Amino acid sequence: MSKTNIDTTIHTARKLDHEDELKKYQNEFYRQPDSIYMDGNSLGLLSRQAEDSLLNMLHSWKTNGIDGWTKGNHPWFYVSEQLGEMSAELLGAKNKEVIVSGSTTINLHQLLATFYKPNGKRTKILADELNFPSDIYAIKSHLALRGMDPEEHLILVTAEDQHTLKEEDIIDSMTDEIAVAIFPSVLYRSGQLLDMKQITEAAHENGIVIGFDLCHSIGALPHSLNDWKVDFAFWCTYKYLNGGPGSPAGIYINEHHLPIHPGLSGWFGSDKTKQFDMDLTMSPAPDAGAMQIGTPHILSASSLIGSLKLFQDIGIEKIRRKSLKLTEYMMTLIDAKLRVYGFSIANPREDNRRGGHVYLEHPEAIRICKALKQEKVTPDFRPPSGIRLAPVALYNSFEDVWNVVDCLQRIMEEERYKQFESDREIVS
Ligand SMILES: *Cc1c(COP(=O)(O)O)cnc(C)c1O
Repeated sequence: MSKTNIDTTIHTARKLDHEDELKKYQNEFYRQPDSIYMDGNSLGLLSRQAEDSLLNMLHSWKTNGIDGWTKGNHPWFYVSEQLGEMSAELLGAKNKEVIVSGSTTINLHQLLATFYKPNGKRTKILADELNFPSDIYAIKSHLALRGMDPEEHLILVTAEDQHTLKEEDIIDSMTDEIAVAIFPSVLYRSGQLLDMKQITEAAHENGIVIGFDLCHSIGALPHSLNDWKVDFAFWCTYKYLNGGPGSPAGIYINEHHLPIHPGLSGWFGSDKTKQFDMDLTMSPAPDAGAMQIGTPHILSASSLIGSLKLFQDIGIEKIRRKSLKLTEYMMTLIDAKLRVYGFSIANPREDNRRGGHVYLEHPEAIRICKALKQEKVTPDFRPPSGIRLAPVALYNSFEDVWNVVDCLQRIMEEERYKQFESDREIVS
């Protein structure tokens, strides 16, 4: 798609769909008729495979009762480990480095309890002011629990332009007072993809333990956590991984740290062969499984079995390739059709610096999002003036992208957004 000679008609969208090697997977998902879903970066859609694996698990409960822990297609006792193995390729990890359990924020608490070891003048945690608030709440509360003043011991890298971080600013903040650093892989708002390899190398040169929050990159793009020697990572599975609301989160622990003693212990972190010895001294699992705490949420986890299978069948490289094409096409159309209405694209443009969504800024963002919803397009509003649009490789088409931009153009041209109030809904 050259910028000088772009065809902005729907024919290009149809041609791109025709050439799309992942097109057939759209039928695997519950796309609602006459609606366009652009919010897969907040909650992915249900696939038939995920539905099947959830129903299978219900059946196992129905027919096996407590024996479901060791019987059935997916014995519950091993589901967290099995899901870890199924996720390993998406992370560039070894099987033993991954476990799927808990929730994102709980896992961050667990990782802080495990990796934050203030020592001498190394007492500070490094993060950034653009990270998702829950991560910052967790870090601050963890510091307070350890008797550290969060105002003093949490250092936040700032963003000059309000949207993106500079890797050199992050690296410049890596002083000998920093014990642990935590950054998002892809920023939840602007969609900026950070250079995890470069940041990890710099952290290690400066004696800092480093972890990443992969909520907005897992399932959207490949990772090489083991090669990059990232110390730890955590992520949710209900965004690009389509695990469903409340599906369990993940933890990665680099093999160099294994075996590891969890900061927060519970019996499900035990070596599986010893868990039912009921000894009052815990024997942690030799792998990342040691980070588990209590009984896994089996029904919530079960949809992931089917969903991750799809990712295994397709491979993340193909998914990333299509995702980049979708967002590139969307930006091309926005440049051509929406600039005149005051929209600006605030995500980085380069392939190696952007994640899976496009981030638009407009002063009337909230009313525009309400108008989109009325037109049966589901966007994602981020206050005060952000609109996130995530065309997801597995279930969105190029024609979806064309229709969304066309819809935005009509909303602006006819000033349809003006009929809506600018108050925010409880969940956005
Ligand atoms: C979605 C998201 C979370 C969500 O945390 P939960 O504990 O799953 O509610 C945390 N961090 C980031 C960066 C996110 O994008």
